[in-house]
Amino acid sequence: MCQAIFDDASFYRSLFQLDQAIAADVQATGCRHCGGRLHVADYPRKPRGVRSALDASYQYRLSFCCATDGCRRRTTPPSVRFLGRKVYLGVIVILVTALTHGLTPRHRRLLIERLDLWPQTIARWQRWWREQVPMTRCWLALRGRFVPPITTFALPGALLGRLTGDDLAMRMRQLLGLIAPLTTASWASLIPVSVDPQKM
Ligand SMILES: [Zn+2]
Repeated sequence: MCQAIFDDASFYRSLFQLDQAIAADVQATGCRHCGGRLHVADYPRKPRGVRSALDASYQYRLSFCCATDGCRRRTTPPSVRFLGRKVYLGVIVILVTALTHGLTPRHRRLLIERLDLWPQTIARWQRWWREQVPMTRCWLALRGRFVPPITTFALPGALLGRLTGDDLAMRMRQLLGLIAPLTTASWASLIPVSVDPQKM
């Protein structure tokens, strides 16, 4: 069922390839402050919940530092894997929030145990989707693409349901790509972002 995606190693590899492609574009653009060259300066990460399906690429979030003396500023590309500094991957934040709506208490408990979640974490993610995401420039730019409009109270499930990919993995990749601007503040000059992902 839809939870199978949590263990799908090829799905996670495909997300890494997307992140690599996004990062390559960002690196080619150069430092947004001074135009200098960007050197690799990845962040170490330890994503929780699905570790066994992840390869070594998930121990890092792709990031860059400017090579110019006196600037040296960091540029972190948008990501389809990591949602800000949260310890859970974006796919978990989306799917758990969407799923828990229709789960029986028992299945909800199993999901919580399996992904090593705190029940409060799910409530926080639900609030983030319903209260903060609808206020972001990313969402304001996105929502006009959907007719009839998506009820923000039903995020993220309603958004996932509107995408047209053949299977869940494809729709999930589309969704992660759409919300990728929310995953970094350092690209704010080029991609509008107004949520601090650290608060999640
Ligand atoms: Zn620079």
